[in-house]
Amino acid sequence: MATPASAPLLDQNVSKFIAKTHKILINGKWVEAASGKTFPTYNPATGEVLSRVAEGDKEDIDRAVKAARAAFETGPWSKITPSERGRMIWKLGDLIEKHLEEFAQLESLDNGKPLSVARVADVPLAADLFRYMAGWATKIEGNTIPISAGGGATQFLAYTVREPVGVVGQIIPWNFPLLMAAWKLGPALATACTIVLKPAEQTPLSALLLGELMQEAGIPDGVVNIVPGYGETAGAALSAHPRVDKIAFTGSTEVGKLILQAAAGNLKKVSLELGGKSPNIVLGDADVDAAIPGAASAIFFNHGQCCCAGSRLYVESDIFDRVVDGVAQFANNIRVGPGMDPTSDMGPLVSEEQMNRVCGYLESGISEGAKALTGGSRVGDKGYFVKPTVLVNTTDKMKVVREEIFGPVVTAIPFRSVEELAHAANNSNYGLAAGVWTRDIKKAHKLAGMLRAGTVWINCYNVFDAALPFGGYKESGWGREMGHEVLEQYTEVKAVCTPIS
Ligand code: NAP
Ligand code: MG
Repeated sequence: MATPASAPLLDQNVSKFIAKTHKILINGKWVEAASGKTFPTYNPATGEVLSRVAEGDKEDIDRAVKAARAAFETGPWSKITPSERGRMIWKLGDLIEKHLEEFAQLESLDNGKPLSVARVADVPLAADLFRYMAGWATKIEGNTIPISAGGGATQFLAYTVREPVGVVGQIIPWNFPLLMAAWKLGPALATACTIVLKPAEQTPLSALLLGELMQEAGIPDGVVNIVPGYGETAGAALSAHPRVDKIAFTGSTEVGKLILQAAAGNLKKVSLELGGKSPNIVLGDADVDAAIPGAASAIFFNHGQCCCAGSRLYVESDIFDRVVDGVAQFANNIRVGPGMDPTSDMGPLVSEEQMNRVCGYLESGISEGAKALTGGSRVGDKGYFVKPTVLVNTTDKMKVVREEIFGPVVTAIPFRSVEELAHAANNSNYGLAAGVWTRDIKKAHKLAGMLRAGTVWINCYNVFDAALPFGGYKESGWGREMGHEVLEQYTEVKAVCTPIS
């Protein structure tokens, strides 16, 4: 492992920020939890407590929903012009960029990811998301619709208006803490909703820093409320709250189903971005020199803690050994170490629980006959590091092939025909993403059509853009994030109709 001795000095603002006991943001004020309780957030590279955070619960959620309700119904937010709203959202993007280093260091400390990755991916993508959504604030349009009601005896003027859905509860995971907050807040702000956001208990810090920037961006009090806390308490209270109009969730499919049940009480709208077990397919005619690093990055980026990770690698038999050995070699060269160490390519998993889950899958796969070409275990005994792992000799009955591992573990499986492959690739309850590597343009698009997935990457993987919709088929979720598609999740359509003759 890389030595922490070479870690860069902490930004002074970050040192001060993590030394604070963090509070809850309700109606523009930082307040303690009604219970007075706090919980620790840990540095997964060391297992030590990083910071303490107010533990929001039902009562705090209730206060936050009241603030969001008032801001939506009677606050200045509803009177702000779309153009002003757009400028505020744009400014949030600018402020994220201004505080890029602080955000990147917080992400690395709290989540474990390499600082170098947070600097070029998480933080700039979050800033860009807000800027993209800022542009939509002035473009939430309806239609005029020629209708035939009245059989022609009366003429009607009919049109639709897109209105904000109202108070939105948002629950996000720990894998890209700031970016997931941006994916959720950006479209909700663009459509003039108000928000109660619950960050993941493992990684609340960057969302809390973002909360500190709301007033500077000009966003009125009560529009964005942030309640850190546990899923079973704060999260459950938010998803069941009768005064919340919509819940947007990213996380496990298991919890997604609980959210859905909780939402049934007042039939709030629900959008879900859930798990995946995405197939990444290398055809015999692929550019192998591109496909090997492509397949390796598809699974090892963010330590495999990506809902769209290319965790099932399918390779056409004649090039199977070459590709899989190449991916194993790539894995061997990954330097695993603390995220804050500039020589680390891969940091620890987010928590002890997540490390144990992933190691449990490794043991299960190996006991069922899978072979680790490389990796297969934890690294060291301090911090939550797991070796990047390539498993072969797997069958489609094994848990490691069927279930989302959410760690740096890929199962490599050979195939002989495209038809056999398409069946195997789609043989999953999930349908989030897929990758295809080939030089044959016809095969590429034919396969893209056959794959039941919300995103198909051809000769690339993990390409994200604020303008590109993202979301899942099957048990990978409901609705889409990003692009203009996401705006539908945050608006109601009103049809207005009147006789004019
Ligand atoms: P999770 O439980 O689904 O957590 C996601 C978010 O939901 C967190 O904010 C969590 O709060 C909250 N939550 C948990 N239980 C809830 C409930 N009953 N009602 C409302 N909100 C609730 O995910 P996890 O336990 O952190 O990770 C477990 C597995 O989920 C991973 O191994 C992976 O397979 C999957 N996962 C998928 C994604 C994705 O992007 N699709 C992201 C993360 C994890 P707490 O922070 O208190 O738990
Ligand atoms: Mg943490």
